[in-house]
Amino acid sequence: MNEYDSLRMRDALRASHHLEVTMDPQDADVLILNTCSVREKAQEKVFSQLGRWRELKDQRPELIIGVGGCVASQEGQQILDRAPYVDVIFGPQTLHRLPALIDETIRVRKPSIDIDFPEIEKFDDLPPPRAEKVSATVSVMEGCSKYCSFCVVPYTRGNEFSRPFDDVIEEIVSLAEQGVREITLLGQNVNGYRGRLHNGEAADFALLLRYVSEIDGIGRIRYTTSHPLDFSASLIEAYADLGSLVGHVHLPVQSGSDRILAAMKRQYTAAEYIDLTDCLRDQRPDICISSDFIVGFPGETDEDFAATMQLIERVGFDQSFSFLYSARPGTPASDLTDDVPQQIKQQRLAVLQNRIDEFAQEISHGMIGTLQKVLVDRPAKKDPSQLSGRTENNRVVNFDGPQGLMGRFVDVEITEALPNSLRGRYLPGERSANRLQASITAY
Ligand code: SAM
Repeated sequence: MNEYDSLRMRDALRASHHLEVTMDPQDADVLILNTCSVREKAQEKVFSQLGRWRELKDQRPELIIGVGGCVASQEGQQILDRAPYVDVIFGPQTLHRLPALIDETIRVRKPSIDIDFPEIEKFDDLPPPRAEKVSATVSVMEGCSKYCSFCVVPYTRGNEFSRPFDDVIEEIVSLAEQGVREITLLGQNVNGYRGRLHNGEAADFALLLRYVSEIDGIGRIRYTTSHPLDFSASLIEAYADLGSLVGHVHLPVQSGSDRILAAMKRQYTAAEYIDLTDCLRDQRPDICISSDFIVGFPGETDEDFAATMQLIERVGFDQSFSFLYSARPGTPASDLTDDVPQQIKQQRLAVLQNRIDEFAQEISHGMIGTLQKVLVDRPAKKDPSQLSGRTENNRVVNFDGPQGLMGRFVDVEITEALPNSLRGRYLPGERSANRLQASITAY
């Protein structure tokens, strides 16, 4: 989500001030720090980075320093108290106002702050995204209204709101016309999407997927992140008949203990989560499921953690994200005693990550000998004479093939599974089975 927001900031500043991106801060007229406050560590990094930029500001007082994102949204004026040399502070929902904020700060020679939640105006004011790669992301909804007890997002990004249906479709059509072949629909809980068709009829996320799958040129659809609570029957059904919808879903579970899930206010039980994954596998036996886990939530006992490991065994997750619990200011869970010793948290995290790595490696090895539909997106990192692309389940595959395949879907037979990538053989003219095979369905 933050990467998407950074691209929108770049688009806005390109259109308003003809600014181009530089990776060298010495070169920059404007330095923007797009921040995340989901965990404490990310938040702390903000001030160390600002400290480094301070020297540049001392050398060049005309340099503009901006802080955007969720730390800006949460801290606002307090950023200026700690780093008074910052010029512009804006939140995730006011990034479209960045050009005006920069003009204002230059005009009045004072810092400008705007951390409002003006909702949909943002998209109306941003220039249409320009496609630069064969894959692109499109925000379909913003904010979050789930209020999980550990999570800062509703307070920093505001409540959930969906972009109008036509706007989303129009943006994807325009990206497809510019050569985009793979779309990732983006939001905190994309499956909470609520839009309207021309006739006033309500459109849920599954219907949006159906419309996107009809857009010429779009051969692959991903989305992230979905919430188990909003995983409707219509969305499960979409897996039965939308060929361009990838056989890979990221579905955060956080814990396998009902007691902890209730304390987290996740609004589902472990059994309900498992039922959901079973229903998905009924539609797509080969689907890969990845997840987010929080380890060491206040009060998490050995039994609670064992329940998480049981759930992992039952579902058989693919590569996932797992985090040590980090108390976030202003969230209900931050009032609970953070009573799990750090060492225990670290041990549990290591156990969980090792097991999920094993599952992920098993999935990779199970792909050897299968035919995969690969979207070729770049030259291979180690050997640029080779091509590199991604499978439906988001694995990098390197293989020999003509450069003319760049940006196209091709059939690749997987020949080797390495820890972080796969090797394959390009099979011109093959009809891709486009599905992983039975080894993955065994769970
Ligand atoms: N909206 C998604 C959901 O809740 O299903 C997840 C979005 S959240 C920005 C990304 C992940 O960060 C969460 O799924 C959770 O695992 C992790 N996270 C959020 N707050 C956290 C906290 N206070 N401590 C540790 N991890 C946290």
